[in-house]
Amino acid sequence: MRIVPAQRFTEGGGFVVHRPFPVAGLSYVDPFLLIDEMGPAEYAPGEAIGAPDHPHRGFETVTYMIEGSMEHADSHGHRGAIRGGDVQWMTAGAGVIHSEMPAREIMERGGRMHGFQIWVNLPRDKKMTQPRYQEYSGEQLPLVTGDGRWVRAIAGEFAGRRSPIQTTVPTTLLHVKLDPERMAIVRIASGSNAIVHTIEGSGTVHEAKIKKHDVAILEGAPAELKLSAGSEPLEALVLAGVPLGEPVARYGPFVMSSQEELLTAFEDFQHGRFGEIARA
Ligand code: MN
Repeated sequence: MRIVPAQRFTEGGGFVVHRPFPVAGLSYVDPFLLIDEMGPAEYAPGEAIGAPDHPHRGFETVTYMIEGSMEHADSHGHRGAIRGGDVQWMTAGAGVIHSEMPAREIMERGGRMHGFQIWVNLPRDKKMTQPRYQEYSGEQLPLVTGDGRWVRAIAGEFAGRRSPIQTTVPTTLLHVKLDPERMAIVRIASGSNAIVHTIEGSGTVHEAKIKKHDVAILEGAPAELKLSAGSEPLEALVLAGVPLGEPVARYGPFVMSSQEELLTAFEDFQHGRFGEIARA
């Protein structure tokens, strides 16, 4: 197990994220390509910042909101808003152009935003798959409470309750809150790489201590992850996925398996083959 820091970055326009990877020295943790904790940020009226129209190809983007609301629109005519507790699991596959912006009311009146964006790689033979969207509200996702635990199963399962999200490779994504001195056992697919991203408080992953913005990485993780809170509560995002073991060629919003495929992605994008977002 390694503990790495989620490093603070200010994205274009002043959007603050905490990112364990990709950073210098750690490009990805197969099959996860990126983890961004967005905020928490308190925006004044007119100050909220989002990501206007941009492309993706070759992987999946997962957006999970804790607080606030994001609106999205894309080149396949899909539009929606996700609020605290909701998830959007987008398979970019062969290519989409989308926008991800704070909700209009937050843009106009200000407000608090906190959430995660995670990129999950697709196997080489599925990179050019048809784009697909899965969106579920917090109420539609299993929530396990009691005994000092609060666990939302965004993907995979917890305590026998399975999320409706369909993943390409076996993937677990949980939002976990533990009261002091409480613990949770998370069962994951064997052979997974697992990640515990600490949001608040402190505790342990097996015997390793973690605190806010620490990220524990377990390559070839045990089938049961043991997460505990110490003298203070622990809030964390827990991820696990079976590694693909394939080459990764990435540049910005494109993640392919070879330089040649990357070049094709650029050419296709430049020639407008990803489409555009229809606007009234
Ligand atoms: Mn995006």
